[in-house]
Amino acid sequence: MFKNKNDIEVFRNKIWLSSPTMHGDEQKWVADAFDKNWITTAGENINEVEKAVAEYAGIEYAVALSCGTAALHLAIKLAGEKLYGQARPDQGTLQGHKVFCTDMTFDATVNPVAYEDGEAIFIDTEADTWNMSPKALEKAFEMYPDTRLVVIAHLYGVPGKLDEIVEICERHGAYIVEDAAESFGSLYKGKQTGGFSDFAAISFNGNKIITGSSGGMFLTNSKEYAEKVRKWSTQSREAAPWYQHEEIGYNYRMSNVIAGVVRGQLPYLEEHIAQKKAIYERYKEGFKGLPVSMNPYDSVNSQPNFWLSCLLIDEEAMCRQVRSDSEAVYISEDGKSCPTEILEVLAKFNAEGRPIWKPMHSQPIYSMHNFITENGSGRGRTNAYIAGVFSDVGSDIFRRGLCLPSDNKMTPEEQDIIIEIVRRCFE
Ligand SMILES: *Cc1c(COP(=O)(O)O)cnc(C)c1O
Repeated sequence: MFKNKNDIEVFRNKIWLSSPTMHGDEQKWVADAFDKNWITTAGENINEVEKAVAEYAGIEYAVALSCGTAALHLAIKLAGEKLYGQARPDQGTLQGHKVFCTDMTFDATVNPVAYEDGEAIFIDTEADTWNMSPKALEKAFEMYPDTRLVVIAHLYGVPGKLDEIVEICERHGAYIVEDAAESFGSLYKGKQTGGFSDFAAISFNGNKIITGSSGGMFLTNSKEYAEKVRKWSTQSREAAPWYQHEEIGYNYRMSNVIAGVVRGQLPYLEEHIAQKKAIYERYKEGFKGLPVSMNPYDSVNSQPNFWLSCLLIDEEAMCRQVRSDSEAVYISEDGKSCPTEILEVLAKFNAEGRPIWKPMHSQPIYSMHNFITENGSGRGRTNAYIAGVFSDVGSDIFRRGLCLPSDNKMTPEEQDIIIEIVRRCFE
């Protein structure tokens, strides 16, 4: 229960969850685009960022697109075409085929499966990295052995259990689409996320580790795949004297102005990661003695980019909290708190937190879709969820977890105040 001693002032400048951090070079490259009049979806900034990202990530090809969602769409479409061919060029490539998807993530990870007329089956989360559970994935292959596509995300910048997931997918002859939108710069066994499949996406959305204001990239080691995505993203024009179209096209290419912002940001990626890591460590230290833990990662095999710092409240320290599809209420209790209370109190002090991504299997648009836990089918969780009874890991993290203000520009002093506010929620 939050106990206000009236000695904490409201932040004059809002403390953001994660806002853009500009350095000046961005404007130089944007100005360069203006000077050369390359105000279009081609130009030197685009060529340079494609080269620089591929080099940095240790991946052969990077294709600059309008956003991470576009990159995921074309990655999933392409995987579908490679697996199932393209019976009709004016239809989705997945045509009812099942696709195993990360459950606890932003809906942009999985919506492209629907764009391509596939059927997303949601796979429960594991507690060690908050990503797709290899055990639940194995269970899903037992139940649906014909499935050939798996879409995974690395949540909040923390790499998932890649060794296990890659092994399972190889054994079942399945392709992986890797959503590295939140994890650009994160490493697993020394290798960049996004490099564990030939269908990967990163994002330069405004709140990501580096930004172009918007933008994203498709990453692959296949020249053929890179060329295909580049063609699809520019309206699928064939080599002909007129606009000749044999495939459905998209207007998904990155603008050279946006690429200028990305070009200016790229040299600061490592600096941003170091800042985010320091924020995570400071929270971890500051919360010692509280009945909470930070979002976990595999410290032996992975180096996250620490994009967002998250908190998980111990079960015993949770006050009663009920969430419907649009509202949340809680009952204050001495010595206990809950995400709803902490988010509410942070907002009162002009600081921005965020709930954990609500699992896809409990989203109304996907309520008809199957959901697989380590124990098998977890379909019909919605009722149990309303009653406050859980048997899946994702819903439990959603219920007890939250994202903390994780802005690079937050000072240590400001972060100390955030820590004190959270501490007082448990008084
Ligand atoms: C941000 C994000 C995306 C989408 O990226 P955009 O560039 O905003 O389209 C996809 N997946 C995850 C997990 C994200 O966080």
